[in-house]
Amino acid sequence: MELRTIIPPEGDVGNFELPELINVADIQCMMENFFRIAHIPMALLDLKGKILVGVGFQEICTKYHRVHPETSKNCIESDIKLTADIPKGESRLYKCRNGMWDLATPIFIGDHRIGNLFMGQFFFRDETIDFDHFRAQAIRYNFNSEAYIESLKRVPQLDKKDIENAKAFFVKLADSLSQLSYSNFKLARAAEENRKLTESLHRDIIDRKKAEKLLEESKTHLERSQEIAHLGSWELDLKTNKLTWSDEVYRIFGLLPGQFTADYEAFLEAVHPDDRAAVNDTYWSSVKNNQNGYEIEHRIVRKKSGEIRIVLEKCEHFRNESGEIIRSIGMVHDITDNKKAEKELKESKEKLCIALEIGNIGIWEWNLHTDEMYLDPRMEKMLGLDPGKFNGTFHDFESLLSEEDITQFRNTICHALNELSPFETIFRIKINNNEEKHINAKAIVEYDDSGGLVKLTGISFDITEMKKGAEQVMFKMNEELLRSNKALEQFAYVASHDLQEPLRTVSCFTQLLSKKYNNVLDDTAQEYIQYSVDGAERMYDMINALLAYSKVQTHGKEFRFVDMNLIINLVMKNLSVQIKNRDASVTFDRLPGLLADENQMVQLLQNLVSNAVKFGRRLPEVHISCKDEPGFHIFSVSDNGIGIEPQYFDRIFKIFQRLVPKNEVEGTGIGLAICKIIVERHGGKIWVESKPGKGSIFYFTIPDKA
Ligand code: ADP
Repeated sequence: MELRTIIPPEGDVGNFELPELINVADIQCMMENFFRIAHIPMALLDLKGKILVGVGFQEICTKYHRVHPETSKNCIESDIKLTADIPKGESRLYKCRNGMWDLATPIFIGDHRIGNLFMGQFFFRDETIDFDHFRAQAIRYNFNSEAYIESLKRVPQLDKKDIENAKAFFVKLADSLSQLSYSNFKLARAAEENRKLTESLHRDIIDRKKAEKLLEESKTHLERSQEIAHLGSWELDLKTNKLTWSDEVYRIFGLLPGQFTADYEAFLEAVHPDDRAAVNDTYWSSVKNNQNGYEIEHRIVRKKSGEIRIVLEKCEHFRNESGEIIRSIGMVHDITDNKKAEKELKESKEKLCIALEIGNIGIWEWNLHTDEMYLDPRMEKMLGLDPGKFNGTFHDFESLLSEEDITQFRNTICHALNELSPFETIFRIKINNNEEKHINAKAIVEYDDSGGLVKLTGISFDITEMKKGAEQVMFKMNEELLRSNKALEQFAYVASHDLQEPLRTVSCFTQLLSKKYNNVLDDTAQEYIQYSVDGAERMYDMINALLAYSKVQTHGKEFRFVDMNLIINLVMKNLSVQIKNRDASVTFDRLPGLLADENQMVQLLQNLVSNAVKFGRRLPEVHISCKDEPGFHIFSVSDNGIGIEPQYFDRIFKIFQRLVPKNEVEGTGIGLAICKIIVERHGGKIWVESKPGKGSIFYFTIPDKA
């Protein structure tokens, strides 16, 4: 049996050929033995005429008929055509197309003919061989005539009786071969089926093992998932009252998995006493009312710690064939943390709502992709709209703003979007009877994960009242200021006139006293009188300085265009004596023109230049220059004088603060204080940079549109 013949599931004997079903070598051997005894030539051929086994083949066949193409065609045609319809269990005697006798017996498996047994070629002993026909054939096919006829003569001549016997033998042999082939076929099929069965059994075992492994894995996954989600499952058998809990249910109830065998009563025991009745009722009424299941939220108490947890239970009932509920399967979800977070969220939402309500803060949102603008009801109300009515785009929103504020609003939004910075602006709207409202709007830009702009979320509140209040306060403060200025002026007046006069009197009479009683008073008395005179003089100077200081605010003039070159020339003129006396050199660059109080500019520069000359050392060198910066001018007055210690840089700008005693350098200590308020009145700043012994530079700024 050839292994190749292992039959496929759809295998059919008709698809197989004879050599696949019999052992050709064995049959060859058997036939050779038979030929040695019986001298009867025979062959086994398949249906295509292929010789599988052959013994005693005649020379006339092997050398001539089966060699020449024409005669060989005859042989095959004889083998196939003349034997095609021999019924099962019979033999046919026929003369082959080359003129010799053959006996053919078919071999069947079931109804399928798979080959033929041949006996031949031969002649009957009592027949006359037609030599002329064969000689003619030799000429026709170009055979060596003599050798061909010799071969013909060697073809066996058999008795009719022998043929009859052989016929019976061949039928039997064909039958045996048929049986053998059929058995082999069945054997092969059985072996194949057996193999397939074993294979499928093997596969089944592997599959079952795989399934078991998968089941085990999915069980582990399920347990892990339940643990992560705090979601346990349970099953209650109503017949046995056996309650099965998953490990996570044990954990939720604060127990170790498998710690005790749970039953319905044990479960009920763990339910919070206040919820127990409701839980019990829900379960049994759903069973009684033949419902499919139920859902309930309740508390449980962990036995050991007494901790209260909130769980959500969902249950489904299962019935037997007669529709009776026999089993309940449920899920228990520990939602304590969710509940807590929910509560906190609710509380903070409530707080936020209260805060928004108290602050009357509206919320708005502009979706940058869809251009949709959302306004919450408070925002709508603020803008004079009916709550829930606004449903528009940014443009619709913008049209609610006062026309004068639209550009500013847009610019602020563009800036926020370009710089990705928070947005804040104030805009006005007109509502109801043309009532004007001032709205403050703030927003932040929101982006998606990849940094793309998504929306602008903002809040707004009405600052109309606040603004009115602030204006009132400002108004009051202004009034207050005016009043105090008036008082100050009053004081200045009193100081300059009323106080100056008595002081002059004290000073004059003390000096008269000194002159008249010159002979009577000793040196000490004269010295004391001089102190009194000096003190009165000093006080007089200080009152005048204070007067000058108070006048900066109260007597300030409106700002006009001032050419600072003219100012410095005037200052030079005013200080000419001082400059000359000190042998000072004062130089200056070309200075700008600006909007300022002309008198105060003179006062400012004069104080600084005067100080620079005054506090200079030998041969003072003073220089005035100006540098333009965007939005303002920076003036500087530098000298090569005594300089100032850094710790006094601020102090010298305060009223009556001097670093040098009066007897060394004249002064009241008010000059720089006046400079400071003049500069500040113009919206600028003043400061000093100095190195002791090297000189100082006083800087001040004046905005270019002061
Ligand atoms: P006064 O000049 O009347 O003393 P100021 O207010 O003008 O008052 O100046 C305050 C003090 O600042 C001066 O007494 C002096 O000590 C110091 N000071 C001002 N200018 C200069 C300067 N250019 N160099 C050195 N010290 C100065």
